[in-house]
Amino acid sequence: MKAHAAVRLYFDRAADRLDLAPALRRLLIIPKREVQVQIPVEMDDGRLETFIGYRVQHDDSRGPMKGGLRYHHEVDLDEVRALATLMTWKTAVVDLPYGGAKGGIAIDPKKLSAKELERITRKFTDQIHDIIGPHEDIPAPDMGTSSREMAWIRNQWEKYHGFGPAVITGKPVEHYGVEGREEATGRGVGILAYKLLGHLNRKPNQTRVALQGFGNVGSHAAKFLHESEYKIVAVGDHTGAYFRREGLDIPKMLKYSLANKGMLQGYTDADRITNDQLLELECELLIPAALGGVITAKNAERIKAPIIIEAANAPTDPDADAILEERGIKVLPDILANAGGVTVSYFEWVQNLQFYKWGLNRVRQELDSVLSRAFDAVWQEANTQRCSLRTAAYMIAIRRVKAATELAGLG
Ligand code: GLU
Repeated sequence: MKAHAAVRLYFDRAADRLDLAPALRRLLIIPKREVQVQIPVEMDDGRLETFIGYRVQHDDSRGPMKGGLRYHHEVDLDEVRALATLMTWKTAVVDLPYGGAKGGIAIDPKKLSAKELERITRKFTDQIHDIIGPHEDIPAPDMGTSSREMAWIRNQWEKYHGFGPAVITGKPVEHYGVEGREEATGRGVGILAYKLLGHLNRKPNQTRVALQGFGNVGSHAAKFLHESEYKIVAVGDHTGAYFRREGLDIPKMLKYSLANKGMLQGYTDADRITNDQLLELECELLIPAALGGVITAKNAERIKAPIIIEAANAPTDPDADAILEERGIKVLPDILANAGGVTVSYFEWVQNLQFYKWGLNRVRQELDSVLSRAFDAVWQEANTQRCSLRTAAYMIAIRRVKAATELAGLG
């Protein structure tokens, strides 16, 4: 199923329960603005290449729009629209004063030099500089981007608008970024796993974990779960997956991947399995932390883990979700499970606007309290409504966006 249709189905399930009027549904579904731009760039060898970039701004009723920038060869308008919509529900469910947006460029960053990436990023910023800003739309890293790209975007944006580090988050610490932003999504997964397992009466050291993805989100999640004594039996990245019944040596894998351009390829201290085998592994907790659409109607029947935490955005197709629910598998939905990143982005933005720097401990403590509060609300909603955690999270989010939209009036 196409990404936006999937997000829309999840929205409709919750909107039905809320008895949301059709006119309001339409308003909350259609993005406020969608921009597609041409990015002509001279490559290192002198060739001209033209790339396509997107920024979709979904909703701003609760505050400036917020969401990452994805560099991946499969990026298209439908996917960016879906991810922008997810950001609206994500910021609403954790109650950050933001709306939702997302952007991306259809490129494979691994095949480009740093100089080419810099030219592409700066040209893209030239095309969208007038629709982003600290009080309008604040981009951040996502798949394929990091603090490096954020520094280029800030620098390029400031050429037009003057000093304004709050235009973007996930910046290098030397450039008004915050310590703790890079680890935030992974740490958030750890915090939420602790809460969820507690409610399900499971102990970390009796929990075997299969983790798909070892990028920024997956590697930090692995680190926190390992430190909390979970037994991580499988880890995969785009080069393949690695299995060890007694538990993988996560510190060793982190070191290996760091020295190997962020890849696990060639890691020998484990058995090789496929990414499909990883998803269907005998374990207690499955964490998809990479691409969307990996849990489908085809493999949902075969998934053995009783708990799934969606560290990736949109990893589960709605028909698969229905199968998982019927089978009694608990799914912590993406809009809550990976909200640690945007939450610390919010802390970065607040610090930039106030020119005041928090310490790392404060960042971590406040992240814990924001996510714990959001988890408790979603857990309670699911119990009173007798629905899945996903529908509960959407219901809370939609209620908040609806209230803000109605209070503002239509002008
Ligand atoms: N790209 C991340 C996400 O999907 C972070 C967004 C942000 O920090 O604004 O939530």
